[in-house]
Amino acid sequence: MGVIHRARNKWRRYAIEHWGGQHFLLDAPHAYVSFTFDDFPRTAYTVGGRILREHGVRGTYFVSSALLGGPSPSGAIATAAEVAQVVEDGHEIGCHTREHLDGTRATPEAFERSIRANNDALAEVIPGMELDVFAFPLEGPTLQVKRAVGPHFRASRGGGQTFNAGRIDLHLLKSFFLDYKTRDDMDAIKRVIDESAARRGWLIFSTHDVDPTPSAYGCTPATFERVVALACQSGARVLPMGHVCAELGIAR
Ligand SMILES: [Zn+2]
Repeated sequence: MGVIHRARNKWRRYAIEHWGGQHFLLDAPHAYVSFTFDDFPRTAYTVGGRILREHGVRGTYFVSSALLGGPSPSGAIATAAEVAQVVEDGHEIGCHTREHLDGTRATPEAFERSIRANNDALAEVIPGMELDVFAFPLEGPTLQVKRAVGPHFRASRGGGQTFNAGRIDLHLLKSFFLDYKTRDDMDAIKRVIDESAARRGWLIFSTHDVDPTPSAYGCTPATFERVVALACQSGARVLPMGHVCAELGIAR
């Protein structure tokens, strides 16, 4: 990565951190935790969904409909039938653009087109379904893309490896990825759960596959089970992202 690219990326991150936000004062009587899966690899439901259900909670699956039924770096992606199944099971489907667009490269117009196309494709699977929440694929947005996407959803999520508390930005909520960098550091995971609980924050976990031999972007069933158990024991309400928005009275 060259010096100019790095400088541009740093500036992009500064801009999206500071501008184009939709601010909300998070002041609930308890903390929230949401579990989210990007791209919806099959094991996110067959294994991850089962673990959530065993703890009496549900998650959010961010779907790029053009990827359904195909291969991916985190394993086979769910089919349309499995999308319908997770909804029936009480989980939430969120938007991840139809073609898994890179927010640092695609234009705002391409993003809006891709969001509409994803809605249309998923409405064929589940008639009348509204997608309330969004996750930025890959590196996250430019400021222009953030501004274009925000108004379409109740909340949009990026990364950042921390939780949301106090004055939060609904157009770019932070999340903590469970992946090759973090999945073996249970102390750090426990710390972020405890800190968010103490500050009555909203901690959003993100991962991809949940597999005994996970991809770089996923985690093992044992890790996932431990994190879900810790979240449930922390006193936080564990809900899909859109359900948190509904409880907090957040419209789009
Ligand atoms: Zn993705």
